[in-house]
Amino acid sequence: MRQSQLFTKTQKDFPADETSAGTQFLLRAGFIDRTAAGVYTILPLGYNVLRKIENIIAKAMDRLGGQRVTMPALVPKKYWETTGRWNAFDALYKLKGKNDDEYALGATLEEIVTPLAQKYAVSYKDFPFSIYQIQTKFRDEMRAKSGLLRGREFLMKDLYSFHVDQKDCDALYEKVKDSYFSIFKETGLAASTYLTLAGGGTFSKFSHEFQTATEAGEDIIYLCDNCGFSINREIKKEYPKCPECGCEKFGEKKAIEVGNIFKLGTKYSAAFGFEAVGPDGCKMPVLMNCYGIGLTRLMGTVAEISRDSAGLIWPAAIAPFEAHLVELESKDGEVNKKIREAAQKIYSDLQKRDIGVLYDDRTGKSVGEKFKDADLLGMPFRVVVSEKSLAKDSVEIKKRDSREAELVGLDKACAFNFKD
Ligand code: ATP
Ligand code: MG
Repeated sequence: MRQSQLFTKTQKDFPADETSAGTQFLLRAGFIDRTAAGVYTILPLGYNVLRKIENIIAKAMDRLGGQRVTMPALVPKKYWETTGRWNAFDALYKLKGKNDDEYALGATLEEIVTPLAQKYAVSYKDFPFSIYQIQTKFRDEMRAKSGLLRGREFLMKDLYSFHVDQKDCDALYEKVKDSYFSIFKETGLAASTYLTLAGGGTFSKFSHEFQTATEAGEDIIYLCDNCGFSINREIKKEYPKCPECGCEKFGEKKAIEVGNIFKLGTKYSAAFGFEAVGPDGCKMPVLMNCYGIGLTRLMGTVAEISRDSAGLIWPAAIAPFEAHLVELESKDGEVNKKIREAAQKIYSDLQKRDIGVLYDDRTGKSVGEKFKDADLLGMPFRVVVSEKSLAKDSVEIKKRDSREAELVGLDKACAFNFKD
């Protein structure tokens, strides 16, 4: 993409009540725009990131055997009444249609997915199966001051699994744990994300949260000094000692929940009278698990933990572009032509190799302005074509998080490894 064509521009200012440093950079760099507290437009640069996160997550869900659907955002009142959540879920956005029919915007979709599954799964032979979607959720959050970390409208992946066998239900739960870590590894969060024991509600003693340590987080987790086992604040009272190794020393960390997995038991299936016909013709209870990841929250979390004082530092796998090709103008018209020719050739060669490139072809910008913007935007590699580099038939390639640039011959620039 040519930067001169990008309709967004970097900005110095951001709304004063945006408290998360990562979100401040996302706003200033033009990845997102704020419409209201907790409500954002995802701009082209941000959309590239989100699309890559979505691909990584969708592939992982497909590998687990998840079948993808898109469920409605308008959820009629009667479904919420069936589960008792019309009044019990306090963050629902409720609305009335012209005929006084009432809806709540989807905040989580057990109310749709359970009766949906019930329409098709009758016999025990129809189980197990899993349904997922990646869809916008709406929640009337009390505090929405941490940008993408807590939206009132946000993108979530929600997977629901259906079982008639407890062992099989537990086995999938464990498989999803591993799958989540593969997702966090690819998106650059694994090193600071902890599998955390949390309360389980009615049907299970525990659920598990995937908590990423960051000062911007609103949760507190307790990490065992000895083995690194992690417990959420809310259940910590039950465990003066680490349940894994018995150690009594815990460190405290602020963290943000990027994902969670939950055993629902028969909570929702029973509410809808969803049972299966067993091998002996008798009814069997249907067990459910649900598994969430917030995609926009994940993007905000990466921005939060992967940055320096100058801007964002994207992990290669989810960077909007792998390379930021920066052309620096010379005062000499003839030299300028050569710089442009060299830059355009690299631009088209890299694209042919399927390397995503943001090409800073803007004229009338100083070296300082261009470099400042490149640091703020945070592509993994900066490739500079200038009078100085051309004098050596080279370009300068610098990793975003390193100080040293490398001179790479013009003929070798396109074979450079931009992937890691
Ligand atoms: P929290 O405790 O942070 O409010 P939650 O327990 O309400 O989260 P879930 O209902 O389990 O979250 O939703 C599944 C996932 O959706 C979460 O792990 C998180 O990644 C994401 N999520 C939840 N609420 C928000 C929000 N307001 N903005 C962005 N992402 C969210
Ligand atoms: Mg919540």
